[in-house]
Amino acid sequence: MTTNGGSGDVKVEYGCPACGRPIELAAGTKGPCRHCGAEASLPPAPPRLASCLACGCKELYRQRDFNQKLGLLLVALGAILWLFLRSFWPMVAAAALDLLLYVALKDVAICYRCKAHHRGGEGIAELPRFDLERHEHYRFEKARKS
Ligand SMILES: [Zn+2]
Ligand SMILES: [Zn+2]
Repeated sequence: MTTNGGSGDVKVEYGCPACGRPIELAAGTKGPCRHCGAEASLPPAPPRLASCLACGCKELYRQRDFNQKLGLLLVALGAILWLFLRSFWPMVAAAALDLLLYVALKDVAICYRCKAHHRGGEGIAELPRFDLERHEHYRFEKARKS
């Protein structure tokens, strides 16, 4: 069963260790940061994603990989068309499209500590959902350190 890809393709979006700006890298590869040129590298993805590949933190949560800006844009577009055409159908269409996108999109695994986004690979569906208490815990820890 080599067809389902296994853990081959995990993409991580995280803050560059050198400059902190967002970069995207595939697990197990290295490359220069597109902002500052510093070399960034990631360890290869485990068979099942259980910890953050960027910082090693053991706690990840999953979230629908939904672009909220896109969702808002769709609704705004629907509202404009609604005013324009005096018909509520564009609003319905925008809402339906929004919902469709939401259903079609996959989950993304996010690190509580460094907020790295992990896409692809196995195991994301088994991760817990976002937990505010964990989030506060890491936020507090971070605030204490800096
Ligand atoms: Zn950088
Ligand atoms: Zn992390």
